[in-house]
Amino acid sequence: MCSPSSSLIRRVACIGIGSAVLVTVIMHDANAQPSTRWPIHSTDRPQPRVVKPPANSWTVAPPADATVLIGTDLSRWQKEGGGAPGWKVEQGYVEVVPGAGGIVSRDAFGDAQLHVEWMAPLPAVGESQERGNSGVFLMGRYEVQVLDSYENQTYPDGQASAIYGQFPPLVNASRPPGEWQTYDIIFHRPRFDAAGKVTSPARFTILHNGVLVQDNVVLSGPTAHQRRPPYEKHEDRLPLSLQDHGTKVRYRNIWIRDLEKP
Ligand code: MG
Repeated sequence: MCSPSSSLIRRVACIGIGSAVLVTVIMHDANAQPSTRWPIHSTDRPQPRVVKPPANSWTVAPPADATVLIGTDLSRWQKEGGGAPGWKVEQGYVEVVPGAGGIVSRDAFGDAQLHVEWMAPLPAVGESQERGNSGVFLMGRYEVQVLDSYENQTYPDGQASAIYGQFPPLVNASRPPGEWQTYDIIFHRPRFDAAGKVTSPARFTILHNGVLVQDNVVLSGPTAHQRRPPYEKHEDRLPLSLQDHGTKVRYRNIWIRDLEKP
């Protein structure tokens, strides 16, 4: 079939009738919203349609080859800048302590499959970016936004499961605050040549509560607030970090599969 696909970039092989010629085309999805088409944090950007996700009652156990980063404690983490992480460790989850700073994994990763379970505080307090804000930073640079986006409007490139400042999610699959939510993230790190030029940019595919929200999006560079900085060459493996944005977001059952392990 030579019909447009829903992927941002997908190779579609077409065999011409009677010609037996194999043609490979690269399709760009008209529905995708390239990060550079809209000004950063534009409130004119269309709000993603709300899709009610399946009811939550499960947790996704780590596969055999995964590393559990948050199970029952924070032993695999340190505070940003070093030292013991100041977050609360409770029975079965950890909680951001506002002002304690973000936390950084002790291990470093490149290409990865990452499972995250998080919960926004109940009762919901504040509006827009003030409500249940945190973030999952791959390589400490590329943020998948954590936000209470349940009946809480904000700029689309800053809502839950957005690639912050670049890509809104395809749909808003948020659960209400006080319920556990899942991110399943497939991340490919950028590649650089010896001169520091990007040979392959960073890419994300993400499911939020089991719903596709980022479909192989290609980042313009690291994520940032009110700007889109260019890539700067960095290590092939860097720690993951979780953001303290001043709200008591909870995390549990974070596991990662290293996709670059031989
Ligand atoms: Mg954030």
